[in-house]
Amino acid sequence: MPIGGRKVPPQAVEKQTATVASTISGREVELPAMWNRMFEPRVLTRTGPDAFEAISALPGAESLEWCYGCGKCVPVCPVDVVGDYAPRKLHRKVQTGTDLLADADLWLCTTCGNCLRVCPKEVDMIQIMPTVREAALTGGREVPGELQDVFEKTFRYGNALGENPRRRAQWTRSAGVPVRILPTDPSPVDVLFYVEDYWSYHPRGQDAARAFARVATALGIDWAILGHEEKTLGDSQRLAGEKGLFDALVEDVTATLARYEFARIVTPDPHAFNALVKEYPKRGHTFEALHYTQLLAPLADQISWVRPLDLKVTFHDPCYLGRHNGEYDAPRTLIRAIPGVELVEMGRCGVNAYCCGGGGGGMWLDGFTRDKTSERLSERRVREASQTGADMLVVCCPYEVSRFEDAAKSTGNDHVLVRDIIELIDQAMGLAPAGD
Ligand code: SF4
Ligand code: SF4
Repeated sequence: MPIGGRKVPPQAVEKQTATVASTISGREVELPAMWNRMFEPRVLTRTGPDAFEAISALPGAESLEWCYGCGKCVPVCPVDVVGDYAPRKLHRKVQTGTDLLADADLWLCTTCGNCLRVCPKEVDMIQIMPTVREAALTGGREVPGELQDVFEKTFRYGNALGENPRRRAQWTRSAGVPVRILPTDPSPVDVLFYVEDYWSYHPRGQDAARAFARVATALGIDWAILGHEEKTLGDSQRLAGEKGLFDALVEDVTATLARYEFARIVTPDPHAFNALVKEYPKRGHTFEALHYTQLLAPLADQISWVRPLDLKVTFHDPCYLGRHNGEYDAPRTLIRAIPGVELVEMGRCGVNAYCCGGGGGGMWLDGFTRDKTSERLSERRVREASQTGADMLVVCCPYEVSRFEDAAKSTGNDHVLVRDIIELIDQAMGLAPAGD
């Protein structure tokens, strides 16, 4: 109001009213404007509930309906960091008519579990995604070609890489220590070491497998492998929607395991570990299962270190060891025990660790996701590792060494070396051959 001016009173606005007959007394009742609106049909959404009902009716996918749009899942979803994706967004898309069974979004979730950690309504993508993907598979919907290829290789050869099962134990020949293979020496053993696909066949995985063989032998662990009788446990295939294949693998694997006597199963693969502790018991098969870091961490004090490494490293928590199974300490205990190694953490670590992109079938979908995200999740993670100033990104999941080494190259961060923890232990114990 200008100084000395006169206050202008507000204009009274004539409100519309309506007169309706009371449904109880029949008398006429006058309603003010705010009530008038209730007599007009209002459009809430242009689409019907069909798309949503098709998803939420699938046993296992019901919780997608529970979303109330709080948005907590959006900033923690690793796919949203490099794209446009999170449970809330998926919920809205389905609510507004997207047929998720036929949509590319169905294959983007890595089942990393970070959204479930923060979701107040327990919208469970770890159940929803495999369920809807299975429905897409069995319903004859389009499945990314590279994933279909992995399903077929797993079905035919018992491993995702389509390698000859006879070559499962070939890596042992250059381990530098004898490795007991149960089919040729079936006497009882303490540790059945379940090598899984990438440590059996991938060249960088084989480096880690050989390092484990030397370390386990030097520590006096009584251990053996299944050799050509081993098949993948198939947990990532299950999460990618091939539940039938997973169930068939459970039958094959448990029939093989029943032939041998062992106290515990140890695996380097968090996905295999997850299957053993969560999925096999649901099907009536219970084993004492450990990730290899859990086997070695209690022995860290007994290790004779002979070679300090002089390294600054950062550690990537595998989703299926950390968030899914609560193990954050064993890898760090080992890293901190290695002389000369300084551990620096990335901003996103522990419970909030960023995903490498390999879980839930993502390991085989890099081609499919290329034009749906601004960069690969592994590339994003390598840049985070580089920002810590670490010389090395250390991992303890067989998917990760090759994923991160590729990402280090493609992002121009080749100066960040990528190693499995077991490779560092092998070196610091002075067991690795010269040049490794
Ligand atoms: S956190 Fe849960 S309830 Fe909130 S928006 Fe995400 S899915 Fe919906
Ligand atoms: S499980 Fe991980 S990748 Fe999938 S929607 Fe949740 S946060 Fe995103």
